[in-house]
Amino acid sequence: MRHYPTQHPVETRTAVRDLRTLPKAHLHLHFTGSMRPETLLELADKYGVHLPEALQGGEPPKLRATDERGWFRFQRLYDMARSCLREPEDIQRLVREAAEEDLRDGGRWLEIQVDPTSYAPRLGGLIPALEVILDAVDRATRDTGLPIRVLVAANRMKHPLDARTLARLAVRYRDRGVIGFGLSNDERRGFARDFDRAFAIARDGGLLAAPHGGELAGPFSVRDCLDDLGAGRVGHGVRAAEDPALLARLADSDVTCEVCPASNVALGVYEKQEDVPLRVLWDAGVRMALGADDPLLFGSRLAAQYELAREHHAFTDEELAELARQSLRAARMPRPLLDELLADVDAWLAADAGAPDDAEARGVAGTLSDRESSADAATPAGRSR
Ligand SMILES: [Zn+2]
Repeated sequence: MRHYPTQHPVETRTAVRDLRTLPKAHLHLHFTGSMRPETLLELADKYGVHLPEALQGGEPPKLRATDERGWFRFQRLYDMARSCLREPEDIQRLVREAAEEDLRDGGRWLEIQVDPTSYAPRLGGLIPALEVILDAVDRATRDTGLPIRVLVAANRMKHPLDARTLARLAVRYRDRGVIGFGLSNDERRGFARDFDRAFAIARDGGLLAAPHGGELAGPFSVRDCLDDLGAGRVGHGVRAAEDPALLARLADSDVTCEVCPASNVALGVYEKQEDVPLRVLWDAGVRMALGADDPLLFGSRLAAQYELAREHHAFTDEELAELARQSLRAARMPRPLLDELLADVDAWLAADAGAPDDAEARGVAGTLSDRESSADAATPAGRSR
């Protein structure tokens, strides 16, 4: 599907709308990576974990993951942070705070991804770990009003048989909030097709396939996600910009790319923000859902991704609203809620750009309890697109 041309540009005013009140879905957020830096410091203190200097300052560490050493360092920091999540109450706190941060940023739907394997040793095994996580998600949704769903993500560095086990587990918990199956870690290792059986299990079980591709590796890795794993969404996918034929294919498909502009620069995929090919993807008609990836390590959250699109890629408010709609449409949410949130995006755009405070007062806080009940009452509309 192509973007509709803008017929009535309203971008003549100097004031801009508040992007924190633009309703959006957050579809690319990793579990530990969603942690607040100050929470990490408190948990490290609680367990006597000595954090590396890069994680102590509350400032995002300098990373460069385009070579293997840099990626290894990134993973090591991630593992250190994860080692501070030990008890169910830590998991609950993490999810609740992630929900609070997203709500503050205009997030109205969250799909968070997690590999329960990493938490299993401290939480009594794979199944108890996933149950602790799903309980925390339920509780956070109840407490904050933000609907949250889970993607179980396999690790590409592990054996494909492990991924199959995870896929079966994910399908088993489909009625408990698991909506998708992912594949993360270094795209340069192994082949996507090694994980085709795991993804077939997930898809046959009704889950969305959402592997990472087109971040550390080039267009071929996006193609592999589509051809070998039946991806319905691609984590990142930005490197598709290097291949016009692939861009056209994505644009003509139902696939949405979960683009994370701050992450791309933080990890050195692109040198500077202007180099992230947001415009290339947009102009080609590729659908995108902006995401924060790992705010703990990259230093910015959901609304900041839209700010980057505005500041560095010259997206107008109308285009930003369309980006938000794309995120909502790519989410696995019930149809009535989708319709409601799309109407809220229209209202955001229709509101006077000069009065963000009004929009804020009217928006997020007042509608949370309604949102929760409508999300609960709605029957999941199988995404037909
Ligand atoms: Zn990611």
